[in-house]
Amino acid sequence: MKWRTHITLVKPIVVLLNLTIDVYNMLLVGVIAPDKLREPFSRHHGDEGKDKAIKEMWKARKYFLKGDQINAYYHLGRALHYVHDVCIGREPSRLKHEMLEYDIDITVREMMDEVVESIKQGLKNKVRDPVELENSIWSIKARRDITEIILNAAYMTGLLVSSVLNKDLCPKEYIDSYERRVKYEVISIIGAGIWLGLILELIFSFNPPIILSMILIGLTYFVFKLLRKPYEDAKKRLLWYGIKI
Ligand SMILES: [Zn+2]
Repeated sequence: MKWRTHITLVKPIVVLLNLTIDVYNMLLVGVIAPDKLREPFSRHHGDEGKDKAIKEMWKARKYFLKGDQINAYYHLGRALHYVHDVCIGREPSRLKHEMLEYDIDITVREMMDEVVESIKQGLKNKVRDPVELENSIWSIKARRDITEIILNAAYMTGLLVSSVLNKDLCPKEYIDSYERRVKYEVISIIGAGIWLGLILELIFSFNPPIILSMILIGLTYFVFKLLRKPYEDAKKRLLWYGIKI
């Protein structure tokens, strides 16, 4: 996406949230910063772009909780950059991609009323749960239709801004669910230890082909990671609200 388009998409936030000029400037610096690195444009799209958006969103949230507005808005801007870019589908060539970005830039300024409406909708649908917020970034669909790209990017702008700048206290259910998970975690670590011992015993006793041993260990790792996900998610929810574990 062009710098000007990124800026056009975040500009309405200043009025909607009544931002001061300092933080607004940082949002603008952040929203174009990733393009100044001159990374290959493909890195801002698809899963790589989504992964970067999520990392920047967490940085923004951590600074926001510390009360460091300048860095919070800078990283929020960076997160928005990647979120905007992943709304655009990959074109077969650099030239086609440039042409699409050019058309997006022209169109966005012709449909500002709808853009502002989508941003407002996103702001209203603030997400309290960081796991859900991450999932909504992972599920962004890259599109080729210009209007759909713009409205989706505008909606996600509002959603991310209100979710990252959420001042609510940590919901009690998140604390309760973490405490329940911690107990379960102790059992699963003991279980994992026994299981790993058995696998290693099996490998040393029967000396199966190396590839089979690797598959067994890989599979074990995968299953444990899957089993630990609810614990990791519960931990993430507390971190999002600045609760030290
Ligand atoms: Zn970019």
